[in-house]
Amino acid sequence: MSQIDAYLQLTHSIDGDFQKALTASDAISLLQSGNDRFLSEKSIKRNRMDLLQGAAEGQAPYAAVLGCIDSRAPIEELFDAEIGDLFVARVAGNTVNEDILGSLEYACKYAGSKAILVLGHTQCGAVKGTYAQLEDGNLTGLLQRIEPAVTAIRTEVGSVPTNDAIDRCVASNVDLVCERIRKESSILREMESRGDIIVAGAIYDVATGKVSFRL
Ligand SMILES: [Zn+2]
Repeated sequence: MSQIDAYLQLTHSIDGDFQKALTASDAISLLQSGNDRFLSEKSIKRNRMDLLQGAAEGQAPYAAVLGCIDSRAPIEELFDAEIGDLFVARVAGNTVNEDILGSLEYACKYAGSKAILVLGHTQCGAVKGTYAQLEDGNLTGLLQRIEPAVTAIRTEVGSVPTNDAIDRCVASNVDLVCERIRKESSILREMESRGDIIVAGAIYDVATGKVSFRL
């Protein structure tokens, strides 16, 4: 039985035994199959009380997702995930700082998650604000972390972005955040090089609901 079939047969939230049996690529497959169910309106629906009963005994999420705060990209919903399935970190522009890196380290090293997915999305306001070189309050520092993904594309396209230019910046930001996770977290870099986890990027299309993985 595949791990996806095993997942679909669960009645409670996932537990340590289920998590331990997963490979890193199984965790990516679970995310992909969850988005497939979301797209085809075939969401699973486990009994809420059974899920809470499992949750009371602990957690063993299969993956951690770093997403944007955008209201159109609700992480658990778009992966058809149940209580206990995912760690989710959300910050505008799905970027990293020490707190986010520490959270991802906890998710993988201490709580056993098998994959980190950096999830950008189309029409990202944080990326658009970075492109426009917006400076205001605490946004200034946040957008500076996204700037490396934008600089070269802005230079090429000019100060008024096309939709295609924003899409390219979103993709570049996802790829750079994956690189930063590997570069700035020795814990996660070593776990990935041992094959214990995968760090991957993906882009969610807010108009279609589809997550395109960058594997
Ligand atoms: Zn966004």
